[in-house]
Amino acid sequence: MNESKISWLLLTIGNLSRNKYWGESNYCAYHSVLATTTLVLDGDIVILVDPSEPIDLLEIKLKQAVGLTASDVDIVFTTHYHLDHRFDADCYPNAVCYMSAQSLKDWELEISKKNKGKQYSPHISGNVNVFHPVSERLTKNISLFSLPGHTPGCTGLLFRTEGKRILISGDTIMSEEYFEHEDGYWMNQNMELTKQSIKKSAANADIIIPGHGDAFKAHDHNPDEEKHAAITWRRLNLSWEAECTYLLQSKDRNIILNPSLSGGRMSQALYDRSGLTVSEIDTVISLDTARKHRESFEIFKNAQYYMPEKCLKQWNVCYGSEDAYFKTCYKKLEALPCGMELVEKEEKYFIIIKNPSGDRILP
Ligand SMILES: [Zn+2]
Repeated sequence: MNESKISWLLLTIGNLSRNKYWGESNYCAYHSVLATTTLVLDGDIVILVDPSEPIDLLEIKLKQAVGLTASDVDIVFTTHYHLDHRFDADCYPNAVCYMSAQSLKDWELEISKKNKGKQYSPHISGNVNVFHPVSERLTKNISLFSLPGHTPGCTGLLFRTEGKRILISGDTIMSEEYFEHEDGYWMNQNMELTKQSIKKSAANADIIIPGHGDAFKAHDHNPDEEKHAAITWRRLNLSWEAECTYLLQSKDRNIILNPSLSGGRMSQALYDRSGLTVSEIDTVISLDTARKHRESFEIFKNAQYYMPEKCLKQWNVCYGSEDAYFKTCYKKLEALPCGMELVEKEEKYFIIIKNPSGDRILP
């Protein structure tokens, strides 16, 4: 097995329509439905997993992220039959669409329920004949990993690269929070199987790409340690889109690091990725004077703005009066919450997050 040939990246960080771990009710949709979409390159084979957006949009992302087009996609793999995981799947001109044999059966069963006038799943629209069943392996290096729970046929992809086992799970693991709690989503079909599948994933993967959230390390989750973690962090966007913006949270602080998304996109990403609104942000930290790190300047009305002192001193106002105004809004970054540390390395600044499971350097 030539593991070094495989690479992967997220094209979309998905989100849940409701996340009870953010205090959202299971009975109401707060966010639009968006699954996590992953691109896997196994040598020359281009694999799109769980396309959740229209092809035009994903093609822009493919171009921007890796310089590929929709016609370069060889395989569309869908973890289960739900529509949010196979959007425009049949529109990739050179792709063969696959799902597990059981997922195809799940889909056909729901269609037959509908035809008999019984209650059926709302996710069945589309052409079932476009998909081919696949079992055991998708390619020589990528195996199927059965994860019953969300649906009976929910099936992930497991592969090794750079010494790590990567699992793309589909909705039996909805997000990091649902993994931590070994919990299924409100529309989960079998909770006991979900629990077993999550345990099996934890034992077999190092990095998990869940159905509707960012990728995470499977072994960061020691519940006793979690309680002592002073700071949690999450990405609000992907690094190939723009500079990465992070949300850092302690018990009583909500901090935005390097706000690189512009106004509307920033507030949307924050809300969909955390359930927070911009008015709940109390601190914004820009780690240098570059405009790309202070894009969404005006929207955090209740926040104080900080920058490392040296950057403030060196800030040459070169974008006119607007820039001069921004400069006056920043204070020098002094006290950081417990668990965060500012470090300088080769004229650049970083934030170190000190957690029991290991330090993280951001951005
Ligand atoms: Zn889904």
